[in-house]
Amino acid sequence: MQKIVSVKCPKCNNKDSFYRYGKDRDGYQKYLCRKCNHQFAPFFNNLSLELIPMLDFNSDEWHADETVVKISGQKYYIWFIIDSETRFVLGFHLSPYRNSEQVLLCLTLLKILAMLML
Ligand SMILES: [Zn+2]
Repeated sequence: MQKIVSVKCPKCNNKDSFYRYGKDRDGYQKYLCRKCNHQFAPFFNNLSLELIPMLDFNSDEWHADETVVKISGQKYYIWFIIDSETRFVLGFHLSPYRNSEQVLLCLTLLKILAMLML
C-alpha cells in the first residue's frame, strides 16, 4: 500500500495550488508551487518531520565538522553539528567565513532550538 503524502509548499505554506513538476532521480514526485514558484519534493519533507522526534538534544556529546562547498563559484563553509551516538545532524550553518564565531553561532542557535524542543 502506498503511503499518503500531504502536499504543502515549505516556503509559503500553500496547500492547494501546485503543478506536478516531474520526478527526481529516485522516482519521487516533485511539485512547483503556483504561488511562489518554489520547487519541492514533499516525500523528503514529510520524512524529515517523522525523524524530528528521534533527535536527542540531551545527548552527552556533539561533534562539529566543517567542509568547503562552492555555490555559484564562491567558496562557502558549511558547519554540521552531529549527535555522536545517533549520528543525526542536529543543525548546520552556512557561511562565507571560516572562523570560530561561525561555529559558536551555529552551536548557540542549536542550543536555543534544543531548549525550545524540550
Ligand atoms: Zn509556495
